Amino acid sequence: METRNWIGGEWSTPSAGEVVVRNPSAITETVGKLRLSSGAELLQAVEAARRVWRIWGKMTGAARGECLHRMAQLLERNSEEVAQLASREMGKPIAEMRGEVARGVQLLRYYAAEGVRANGDVIPSTQPNVMQYSKRVPLGVVAIVTPWNFPVAIPIWKLAPALVCGNTVVWKPAEFGSLTAAKLAELFSEAGLPPGTLNLIIGKGSVLGRTLTEEAAIDALSFTGSTATGLMIGAACAARNIKYQTEMGGKNAAVVLKDANVPIAVNAVLSGAFRSAGQKCTATSRIIVEDAIYDEFVQELATGALQLQVRNALDERAYLGPVASEEQFRIVTGYVEMAKTDGRTVVAVEAPEAEQGYYIGPRIIDGVDPGHALVQEEVFGPLAVILRAANVDEAIELANRTVFGLSASIFTTNLANSFRFLEEMDAGMVRVNQETAGVEYQAPFGGMKGSSSHTREQGQSALDFYSAVKTCSIQYR
Ligand code: NAD
Repeated sequence: METRNWIGGEWSTPSAGEVVVRNPSAITETVGKLRLSSGAELLQAVEAARRVWRIWGKMTGAARGECLHRMAQLLERNSEEVAQLASREMGKPIAEMRGEVARGVQLLRYYAAEGVRANGDVIPSTQPNVMQYSKRVPLGVVAIVTPWNFPVAIPIWKLAPALVCGNTVVWKPAEFGSLTAAKLAELFSEAGLPPGTLNLIIGKGSVLGRTLTEEAAIDALSFTGSTATGLMIGAACAARNIKYQTEMGGKNAAVVLKDANVPIAVNAVLSGAFRSAGQKCTATSRIIVEDAIYDEFVQELATGALQLQVRNALDERAYLGPVASEEQFRIVTGYVEMAKTDGRTVVAVEAPEAEQGYYIGPRIIDGVDPGHALVQEEVFGPLAVILRAANVDEAIELANRTVFGLSASIFTTNLANSFRFLEEMDAGMVRVNQETAGVEYQAPFGGMKGSSSHTREQGQSALDFYSAVKTCSIQYR
């Protein structure tokens, strides 16, 4: 399979180089080839989106919603193929990948229905015979930049609300999600969107980034990815007064108090830390345990971790597969080496020897102080650190001691401590007796502090981002 761009309803082969994609579970296997675009091709995509936006924007919400319904049907019908391709492209275990594709279908259905929901308010006027109302209107051309770790759900939770609000879209997926992106675009090309409404441009962020943020005539940009890239994009958009949102990194804490149900906490911490090989922005990467149960909990956690199955992502039994790419492997291995010298490895699960892939077995580390890089930097791999807290006060203080604020969990059977955590944690997603990873599609998603531009995605919040509010008033006498 080779990627192509989809611009103005036409497929074309990008002209600025190519990259061979290898299966991270078995690197001798070639999955496909990425053809990479130049800045000029990106500008063509933006022009195509610009040409059609008034037409798409003026269609009824019901008609736009119908297109999204058809996209949902097409994705549902082809879900296994999409899940298999994404698993082979970026190494997410097939069972999880199927769940992600199903989430994509739910998101499309949810936003399809928004096409016929109220999109404004009637606001009583202080003057007689004046009708005053507000309504959401499209922004115009929206650029969507997505990461590789959720190659289906994240693009769809941006594309669907952007489209139903009446915007046209230029979508640049991450390099290691581009084959999946091309497959999605292929499916969506059958959904009856007017040519140019949705455009796909394959390429490297480092090559296309400047053209996108400094030259392209876009009206808004929605980005999910690393903090370093997000801050750069945010600054460039702010300089041009382009509406933007950036969802970025995390360093999410799970707090386990002495009255926790230990089996529930162990399962949720393992799942949060190690599914998808720890490559979720909401992954548990700090485990903060109250002193009174520290030894017991760590023992149970280590026992549980040793049972996790590290396997080829297409193996149904895989709890976690490899990390996604050679670059990820290099970065995460650097943190593993740091942990060996600076901390104490509580548990290190072996990676499968028979497989030739980017496998890193789960690791749990303690013995590092709260200011250490392993506690403060996003690792984005199957490595979590444990910290000891004297009591609930110290546990919450430690959990908040980070520049990030994406998600956080507490495990406790005490109602007062549950509510205290929900109130005092400076994070966008706060949960009790549930893992740090995960959110429902109809609920707002996003971070506080350094994790986000303070906007939200999903649910109703996405509609607020992808539209502008216009206040209309008519004197009718
Ligand atoms: P990344 O920042 O390297 O890339 C994200 C996207 O930005 C890719 O499409 C990439 O090509 C593009 N890009 C890179 N440089 C660019 C530039 N200069 N200009 C414009 N675009 C550019 O991130 P990644 O490695 O793909 O994803 C992992 C990161 O994403 C982690 O930090 C993770 O926490 C974060 N993430 C956050 C969320 C969230 O919702 N908060 C969700 C998933 C992932």
